[in-house]
Amino acid sequence: MRQNRSKAYRKLMAMYSTSFGFRQPYQVLVDSETCDTASSQKIDLLTRMESVLVGSVKMMITQCCIHELYLKGKSHQPAVDLAKSFERRKCNHKEAMPGDECIAAVVGETNKHRYVIATQSHPLRVGLRAIPGVPIVHINRSVMILEPASDTTLQFKHRAEQDALGPSTSEKAMLSAVAPPPEPVVKKKGPKGPNPLSVKKKARKHATQEVNTRVAAARVEKVHAGNKRKLHEAEDGGKVSAGAEPRPKRRRRNKTASRPVEV
Ligand SMILES: [Zn+2]
Repeated sequence: MRQNRSKAYRKLMAMYSTSFGFRQPYQVLVDSETCDTASSQKIDLLTRMESVLVGSVKMMITQCCIHELYLKGKSHQPAVDLAKSFERRKCNHKEAMPGDECIAAVVGETNKHRYVIATQSHPLRVGLRAIPGVPIVHINRSVMILEPASDTTLQFKHRAEQDALGPSTSEKAMLSAVAPPPEPVVKKKGPKGPNPLSVKKKARKHATQEVNTRVAAARVEKVHAGNKRKLHEAEDGGKVSAGAEPRPKRRRRNKTASRPVEV
């Protein structure tokens, strides 16, 4: 196997292990046609499979697939002998069905048992590409090929990676349990009280206003007192008078009144 292809296969199997939980020994489900091809071309299926999957493998064949080989006749005896060396996978199909249908049924919709499928059937390979996480192997001119990951597999892997970037379900649960308290704390902080600086400023303003009003009141009192004094002085005949008109009258009165007293 070429170095580049080996590297690509290693990377591909690492992806299946990381994203889909594949573990060694990889369980390889082989169809009847692959057994036939391997025996006729004298391909060591186990060794070649371990080389392609870059790890240990467990070769398996379903009851229906081995039945298919029996039906081919004695000329295919080497393929039957090869298939018999593999572990029998019970598919529980009461009546043997075509190998493709049997393998499709065993893989199901999710390939939950994590099978690697080795098949020469093109329709089956096309069908299996629609199921995420199914490594597919086939023999092409005595070369065993591991197919690149299907679009469905890559999409599934991408979605899994996106989910892994965000919080997990347990973390989400924790966050939802922890998250509510901070919100009330933030709300409490607001109405606790106004900014202390603003409070002091208000107090200062109030104080200055009070002082101002006091000063103003004192001035008013002073003015009133001054006016009263002026009035008193005017009434007593002082030189300073409050108005312009009353002056001459009062002076005359005082003068006329004082003359007889003096005289
Ligand atoms: Zn079956």
